Amino acid sequence: MLPAIVLKHKKEESLLRLHPWVFSGAIKALPHGLQEGDLVAVLANDGTPLGTGYYQIGSIAVRMLSFNEAETIDHDFWRTRLKAALALRESLGLQRVDNSAFRLVHGEGDRLPGLVIDCFDGVAVMQAHTVAMHRMRHELAEALADVLGDSLKAVFYKSEGTLPYKANTGAKDGYLYQCPEFDDTNVTATENGLRFRIDYAEGQKTGFFIDQRDNRALLRRYANGKRVLNLFGYTGGFSVYALQGGARLVHTVDSSARAIALAEENVGLNFPDTDRHEGIEADAFRFLQGGRTAEYDIVVLDPPAFAKHRDVLRQALRGYTRLNEAALRHMPAGSLLFTFSCSQAVSREQFRLAVFTAAARTGRHVRILHQLTQPADHPVSIYHPEGEYLKGLVLHVE
Ligand code: SAH
Repeated sequence: MLPAIVLKHKKEESLLRLHPWVFSGAIKALPHGLQEGDLVAVLANDGTPLGTGYYQIGSIAVRMLSFNEAETIDHDFWRTRLKAALALRESLGLQRVDNSAFRLVHGEGDRLPGLVIDCFDGVAVMQAHTVAMHRMRHELAEALADVLGDSLKAVFYKSEGTLPYKANTGAKDGYLYQCPEFDDTNVTATENGLRFRIDYAEGQKTGFFIDQRDNRALLRRYANGKRVLNLFGYTGGFSVYALQGGARLVHTVDSSARAIALAEENVGLNFPDTDRHEGIEADAFRFLQGGRTAEYDIVVLDPPAFAKHRDVLRQALRGYTRLNEAALRHMPAGSLLFTFSCSQAVSREQFRLAVFTAAARTGRHVRILHQLTQPADHPVSIYHPEGEYLKGLVLHVE
């Protein structure tokens, strides 16, 4: 029997609508001795069972794993969930000879709150965002091996940076599984026919930002003959696509020397002899001073999340405005700006308003050509709109 969490009167309503979070204020009392990461049965005030979740210290106190109280959270449960996640990616056509990078698990979007798994040519990079998922990591790795079969080369656990720091889990990044012939010195994956080296051990997040795949492909469509500036370029994803699209020149700017080295390596993997690309280690805000965007036909702005929490939201919105204004002000007539926000705390409307403010300050005629989001392997449960985080606009500047 799992410890039971009983909700206050009427606080079951969001769960009945399949929203997977229970906020701490909705809970009548926590069972004695409950530990962070424990599985719990959730009950309405009148004792009606609502399902099974796990407990985490914080304002989101319970994340639901199942709305069927009869379902046991065991090996079969994880295997079934992972199988369903894989079936979706298969149906999306993301496992192809020319595409071996995709997100297999996107948290609540795959009914596995607190868990992210990215796959890079058979290497699964697993991120736990909660103590429960951290505790389950070995079971999850076993279930992954069952579901992916021979195609699984390794499972790398990368959670030091994503677990709540107060939890004190002592989590260490490292392999949970490696098949005997696995060689981790040079892992590459293919995305839409382009090759990328994946540095999951040292790189940011899972090592590669799969979420921009469709947006990079859009840039490729427009890049022919253009001068492209990729600000906050990281592994050079946008840059490689622009080069393939026939860009005349591409400049990748990132403040991290390591990122620039990776971007250059990725350009070299795909276009060994090109002289159309230059990597520039610089602060993007500083780079934009002095009207540098006048020299480009397409500018990509994909900064890291400015607002990691709601309390810094206003400051983040000002940051987006400042950045977009600095880019837009000097762009030549007829140029395109691809601008993004990956802050979950910033809504689509708020981001658009921040960019509107930037445009208005320049007084230029700016039109929205595309409104972009995260790709289909980052699905959003309709009951959990918080799962939508990536927002983008393609702007035409006159
Ligand atoms: N566009 C990338 C992802 C960007 S991640 C892609 O498609 O994969 C954000 C990047 O911004 C990181 O590589 C980080 O090193 C870089 N960065 C953070 N602050 C910066 C700054 N002030 N100037 C330039 N780059 C910065």
